[in-house]
Amino acid sequence: MKSYENIFISSLTTMRIGGIARHVFEIEDEKDIPEAYNFASAYWYPTYIIGGGANTIGRDEGLDGVILLNRLRGFSENNGEFTIMAGENWDNVVDYACQKGYTGIEALSKIPGLVGAAPVQNIGAYGQEVANVFKSARAYDTATNSFITLEKKDFQFGYRKSIMNTTMKNRFFIISVTLEMKPGHMERPFYNSMEKYIEDYGATDFSPKGIREIVSNIRKDKLPDPREKASSGSFFKNVYLDPIETEKAEMKGWAVHRGHDGNKINSAWLIEQCGFKGQLLYGMRVNPAAPLVLINESAGTYANLARARAQITSTVYDKFGYWMEQEPVEIINTKNRGAQR
Ligand SMILES: Cc1cc2nc3c(=O)[nH]c(=O)nc-3n(C[C@H](O)[C@H](O)[C@H](O)COP(=O)(O)OP(=O)(O)OC[C@H]3O[C@@H](n4cnc5c(N)ncnc54)[C@H](O)[C@@H]3O)c2cc1C
Repeated sequence: MKSYENIFISSLTTMRIGGIARHVFEIEDEKDIPEAYNFASAYWYPTYIIGGGANTIGRDEGLDGVILLNRLRGFSENNGEFTIMAGENWDNVVDYACQKGYTGIEALSKIPGLVGAAPVQNIGAYGQEVANVFKSARAYDTATNSFITLEKKDFQFGYRKSIMNTTMKNRFFIISVTLEMKPGHMERPFYNSMEKYIEDYGATDFSPKGIREIVSNIRKDKLPDPREKASSGSFFKNVYLDPIETEKAEMKGWAVHRGHDGNKINSAWLIEQCGFKGQLLYGMRVNPAAPLVLINESAGTYANLARARAQITSTVYDKFGYWMEQEPVEIINTKNRGAQR
């Protein structure tokens, strides 16, 4: 196992913010996992797992602890059952599935990051989410120091959540993920932006490959490539409403979307209504094409990010009465806090 000392968290995350992490271990083999956790336990260090760092924010104080960098590689597929090591690139898996004509993840094209993080927040886009094709995961359980298999029901998937980012945060290291898919295609009606693209460009191929192309083109126009621009997004989760809140919001003429997974107001709409689209706040640009993405143009520090976030969330609260929740996970420098070890 490769190990490093005093590495900037900013170099491990797409937002490129965050001070120094005391220890960084590259997990390239299953057996590295207990070794890294045993080291951390011996010194009462907190631990954090990072894959692609596209949904992780470092703080300026860094981490007096251990970061486990997930670099587990490997992939197998048999009749639509995919077993993928957690360190594989998510979009490569989508590409492979689409080439083979399997449906279920084609709308999740171009989501940055690695496979291990996909079930953590149940990645979703354009009407699909990973939970729909998820079968199981092999993981290391830091509470029992053992390798286990977790089934789909164990994850308790919801909108951008599972036990991995709620009740069991930091307990498991996901080693591999098994997905089940069948040949087929998505059914219309698609998401509004996809229908608009189809109308504008006359797209007719709705096979997994065709949908991948549509989604990739929509995303290319709207979202920055985090390899080129330091960024994070969606930075805020959408706001879900109960039936009474839904009625109130509709009476006020706000943009409520009623759906089978609940009624919501897109946080992008809330941010836009407050005039933040395209604005530069403390060096943090609210992406003009998709305001849920924040671009670190010159913010540099977590303190500036926090100022920009506070301005956006408090303005939205004052105007609409909703607190938007942050989506990316933060690396908090604390020793021996419960499940964080
Ligand atoms: C431009 C942009 C667009 C995006 N678009 C979308 C989108 O459309 N839909 C969407 O859902 N998300 C989107 N995201 C968010 C992000 O791409 C996803 O959350 C993705 O799954 C992050 O993968 P990662 O490997 O970079 O995660 P990381 O940031 O490395 O990790 C995220 C979380 O998962 C945990 N984790 C990582 N690997 C493991 C593991 N092996 N075992 C246990 N825990 C682990 C980490 O500790 C952390 O809490 C976008 C991000 C960006 C920057």
